[in-house]
Amino acid sequence: MVRKNKDYYDILKIDRDATQTDIKKAFHKLTRKFHPDRNPGNAEAEEKFKEISEAYSILSDPEKRSRYDTFGSTSGPGMGFDMGFGDIFEDIFGDFFGARRQSPNRPRKGSDLHFKLLLTLPEVAAGVEKEFEISKLINCDICDGSGAKAGTSPETCPICHGSGQVKKQTGLFSLTTTCIKCGGSGVIITEPCEKCHGGGKVRVNKKIKLRIPRGIMEGTRIRYASEGDAGFNGGPPGDLYIAIFIEEHEIFKRRDYDIFCEIPITFIEAALGTEIEIPNVLGKIVKMDVPKGTQTGDIIRVSGEGLSNEYEHGDLYVSIFVETPTKLNKTQQALLKQFAEVSGIKIHPRTNSFWKKVKKFISK
Ligand SMILES: [Zn+2]
Ligand SMILES: [Zn+2]
Repeated sequence: MVRKNKDYYDILKIDRDATQTDIKKAFHKLTRKFHPDRNPGNAEAEEKFKEISEAYSILSDPEKRSRYDTFGSTSGPGMGFDMGFGDIFEDIFGDFFGARRQSPNRPRKGSDLHFKLLLTLPEVAAGVEKEFEISKLINCDICDGSGAKAGTSPETCPICHGSGQVKKQTGLFSLTTTCIKCGGSGVIITEPCEKCHGGGKVRVNKKIKLRIPRGIMEGTRIRYASEGDAGFNGGPPGDLYIAIFIEEHEIFKRRDYDIFCEIPITFIEAALGTEIEIPNVLGKIVKMDVPKGTQTGDIIRVSGEGLSNEYEHGDLYVSIFVETPTKLNKTQQALLKQFAEVSGIKIHPRTNSFWKKVKKFISK
């Protein structure tokens, strides 16, 4: 959208009575200076360039210019002016940047293909070889990509004479558009190839084998050069990109190369200490020491049982959850009561200390 209250004459550095030739000249001069191709990564130049293009799109159109001169803006009541910047850009550059608007029948690179690959955490831990199928466009082998039936060849388009573009003079503008007759290819296929129906390309499925190294990070993008869609007009094929995603695991979570999990133990194991057997992320059983007096929330590190690659070696961190037994039968309850009687508060230092604090608090 065009914003209000901009001095387009000032932006183009021209007088208010400038002729169309003056406007064109000024625009040409400024765009040469601020063109994004000449100022890569320069946001200020880019902004300036947009401003210049906007100013030019208004002042070069006698009707819009007259509205602008009268109302100081082109978007007033009843002045619906809703040209997107993209349209302006096309209009302007179709005309002035011949080099920029390249011929549509020049060789062009084919489309890149993007696929997602979902891995399980154990696959990440071990590394894995994956085979999957992709669907892509290749040049038709019958017509060799020309689209013309065997024994015939495409004819030069009689409308655009092979350029793929037609120039139209509309008032002060000369507008270059893609040739409708040949769709910009510059050639007409009179007898289309039976296999590709004149398109020159056919869709095929291709098996891709992928060796995933162990420890790979989520979001990693693997590039396969030239495995994308076939190019246009003899251009090179696109590339294939595979993005790695990792499924959530029921037991384990990953952080960098470390693995985290929560493991419940009985209050008896927690109290007496024990050695328990737990699975690592590969599903292999490893031994873990639970020290005497372990509490809920204590974290035990099992060294070297995380993820790894050539350079990194993570650990497994086990967060302990001490489970209170439920549904005790009469015998069990009696035994625990007997246990309580012989225990007293001394064996529960945390409980002891908490109630001491409460006592102090309420006696104030
Ligand atoms: Zn063909
Ligand atoms: Zn044509």
